[in-house]
Amino acid sequence: MAEREEARRKRAGALLSEHKLDALLVTNLHNVRYLSGFTGSNAQILLLRDGSARLLTDPRYDAQSRQETNCPIEIVKGPLFKAAAKAIGRVKVRRVGFEAASTPWATWKALDNALPARADLRASDGLVEGLRQIKDATEIELIRSSCALNSQALEKALMCFRPSMLETELAAEIDYASRRAGASGPAFDTIVASGAHAALPHAQPRAKAIQKGILLIDMGAFRSGYASDMTRTVHSGPAGVRFRRMYRAVLEAQLAAVDAVRDGATTKSVDRAARRVLHAYDLDEHFTHSTGHGLGLEIHERPRIGKTDKTRLAAGMAITIEPGIYLEGWGGIRIEDTVVVTRNGCEILTPTSKELREF
Ligand code: ZN
Ligand code: ZN
Repeated sequence: MAEREEARRKRAGALLSEHKLDALLVTNLHNVRYLSGFTGSNAQILLLRDGSARLLTDPRYDAQSRQETNCPIEIVKGPLFKAAAKAIGRVKVRRVGFEAASTPWATWKALDNALPARADLRASDGLVEGLRQIKDATEIELIRSSCALNSQALEKALMCFRPSMLETELAAEIDYASRRAGASGPAFDTIVASGAHAALPHAQPRAKAIQKGILLIDMGAFRSGYASDMTRTVHSGPAGVRFRRMYRAVLEAQLAAVDAVRDGATTKSVDRAARRVLHAYDLDEHFTHSTGHGLGLEIHERPRIGKTDKTRLAAGMAITIEPGIYLEGWGGIRIEDTVVVTRNGCEILTPTSKELREF
């Protein structure tokens, strides 16, 4: 395992010259984990071009850091950025990248003041995140197992379903089943939305009884650090003609987008495949978000699968495909799978059926 992280540090280090940097101060904790295996909540890594690195963390993580990483460790009392500035001084580098998206302005300012005169800070964006987009075989297995657990938790929770149950109760059953199955926690706040409430794409469960009709569930788990993400829209009681037509439209859009996923395809072409189907049903104006997103150590990662995104998909990327339609006053339907891009297409990692389910 440790060799894997060492290889990642080498790969990230090799990218520094391309980005005109001599060193990178990694402050995004997901990137820290990716490059070192360390899972603590306070750490930074100073990475050099040759892949050599130093992990800075505080005394609470003395034992844990030694257990989790083979990266050289410095245990720091006080603010990490001060120790980072000293470490930068010791290695005598000039152009030091900092992760602009995860460095608060106050930290940047303090770091800048503490730096030796010869070094200067350069904003860096997405260097490690770019590497994280492509998952290795071990990571894909972890995402697969997270998806299996997530689907299992849905079945367990639906077995507890009874008419007039609260949305919050069903969400709690989902979270409970997920933890019982070995999740370290939910990947995001579980969405359970019934009836017209399902018209809000990011609805929060309410302390309100689930009525007969639409029931949209969006759930994800973290297992061994890796996320899963799935949405299913089921129907409590028999579904009417309108719901069936809408459901078929979203399912066809989801299948068309899944079908468009392959190594080399642009993300916007996948998005377009879903939109084209909804357009044929005259429903495309109700599809108000992007088709999907990457996932891995975080629930939302690169790439984005949207209208204007030009990223080319590559084998090993793990992404979601989740078209939906939302009609205020009526409700919404979304169907979401987690898939992994392969050379000739993709493999769906979410085992739950997408057939219309009435109960
Ligand atoms: Zn989701
Ligand atoms: Zn999602």
